[in-house]
Amino acid sequence: MAVADRPILAGMTPDELKAFVVSHGHPAYRATQINDWLCRRFQMVPDAMKNLPSALRQDLQSELHAPSSRIIRRADAGDGTGKLLLSLADDEVIEMVTIPAGDRLTFCLSTQVGCPVRCRFCASGADGLKRNLRCGEILEEYLHGIAAAGKQPENLVFMGIGEGLLNIGELLKSLDRLTSPAGFGMSPRRITVSTSGIVPGIRQLAAVKREYNLAISLHAVNDRIRAELIPDACRYPVQEILRAADEYRETVGRMVTFEYTLLDGINDSRADAAELGRLSRRHHAKINLIPFNETGNGFRRPSRRTIDEFAAEIERNGGHVTVRRERGSGENAACGQLRRQHAAPDNAGLSDN
Ligand code: SAH
Ligand code: SF4
Repeated sequence: MAVADRPILAGMTPDELKAFVVSHGHPAYRATQINDWLCRRFQMVPDAMKNLPSALRQDLQSELHAPSSRIIRRADAGDGTGKLLLSLADDEVIEMVTIPAGDRLTFCLSTQVGCPVRCRFCASGADGLKRNLRCGEILEEYLHGIAAAGKQPENLVFMGIGEGLLNIGELLKSLDRLTSPAGFGMSPRRITVSTSGIVPGIRQLAAVKREYNLAISLHAVNDRIRAELIPDACRYPVQEILRAADEYRETVGRMVTFEYTLLDGINDSRADAAELGRLSRRHHAKINLIPFNETGNGFRRPSRRTIDEFAAEIERNGGHVTVRRERGSGENAACGQLRRQHAAPDNAGLSDN
């Protein structure tokens, strides 16, 4: 079934729900009831919406995708981190991750099927972009995550498959539903959008003037090293990215994070660390070092000692740095890996449950 052929219930706004119920001959207040099922009780299956008449449940079921996706695999990384592999209406596959830490739960969501940026070290971009996700599909990731984890997350990061700022229309719609009081009611300060540095997208996100956290995957302090990692087509110059980061901080009033995936022998020199420390200070940005998760594509993770020295050198140069703690460690931890494994199931390595 083509995915674009009908609306997705989970992505509909109260106004769209109202238009739907009224046009099908039901009273307008039914839209509020449906919205409550979605956003208060996290239910996206019409048959479970017990206070609706069966004729309306029938209409929702037959004319909308409700839901459009289903869980085809649930994998546990052993440290509490859970991955859900979701099959979409057109049989494309994406993943979302649930990450508990203390009493805080974080969800990591995908924004596209594949990724057009095609960073050379990343499993998500290996086959390029298949298609954008629709707002309803992004919200279904969230709802499947709640069903799996048993509660709403405290934090949300858009760091799964895809480049969200190249699907900005649907991303903004889903951010709106996630944060609106009539929607899921999350605070924008608890949501982080990660981007490979898509400058026009950073400006569009700033223009909505909500306090979303912005994480920019810098990975390199200059264009020469960056070009080794990110192909030309979707790569912006470092200086333009830094300018857009400053504008974001000034417009939105939130500190920006620079993510830096550490790759052995490529971007892990002492001089790189020193420059990154200076960038962090100059641009009032936090540095988040991500030790590379090896995916069999030739890139390697630096030694523990190199990582520690790299972080220390950033601090010596006035930078503010954190090293990402290993989560979902093992061969399938990095974004997009489970999806690719699904395409080539021979490399299975996670325990299913
Ligand atoms: N497209 C966006 C968001 C998704 S990728 C972006 O690039 O920011 C989220 C983060 O995961 C990026 O910082 C990316 O560099 C990192 N990443 C991808 N593959 C990885 C791997 N194998 N090991 C460690 N980090 C990885
Ligand atoms: Fe796309 Fe981000 Fe992976 Fe680069 S790191 S290919 S931008 S998902």
